[in-house]
Amino acid sequence: MNRLEQSKQTIRAAKYIQHGLKTNLIALDTNLPVKYVRDLIRDITGKSPTSGQLVEVPRLFKSKRSIMASVLLLVTYQKIAPKQNNATVNLDALIMAFDCYCKQTSGLLGFESNQCGNPLSINDAWVLANALSTEQIELSFCRCGCVVIIADKLDTYMNCPFCYHLGKLKLRS
Ligand SMILES: [Zn+2]
Repeated sequence: MNRLEQSKQTIRAAKYIQHGLKTNLIALDTNLPVKYVRDLIRDITGKSPTSGQLVEVPRLFKSKRSIMASVLLLVTYQKIAPKQNNATVNLDALIMAFDCYCKQTSGLLGFESNQCGNPLSINDAWVLANALSTEQIELSFCRCGCVVIIADKLDTYMNCPFCYHLGKLKLRS
């Protein structure tokens, strides 16, 4: 990577750091070395990068609240994200979708914006968008008209969170 390209990617990385995306996701997207991104996080936030694994997709469908949150996020992401041939998450679209999601859920009980209260973090949002991009999950419509997530490929079956209709899907154990 030449210096001009590195500068461009550093500016992009700085934006993603401010939104709280994990080191590895930023390094993957910008092609910057992981160590470089970690140093950049220290420079920008004054703190060491937090470690920790990304959540597994089915864990995001454990409650009615988290399923609703996932539907809201994914519908917005799918509308915003440009159609790409490669199955990668568009981070700029993800950030826009997450900001929109935060506005939609602002003030709703159980969707408090602090990290402990809200069912979704920006990194959970990446996990969802990645699962959609790689076709592990898909969006469909329930007979009630609401959007539902189909996660059969992950052996995860859930009721519509809005009307509880199960359709062709069996109950999650
Ligand atoms: Zn329904």
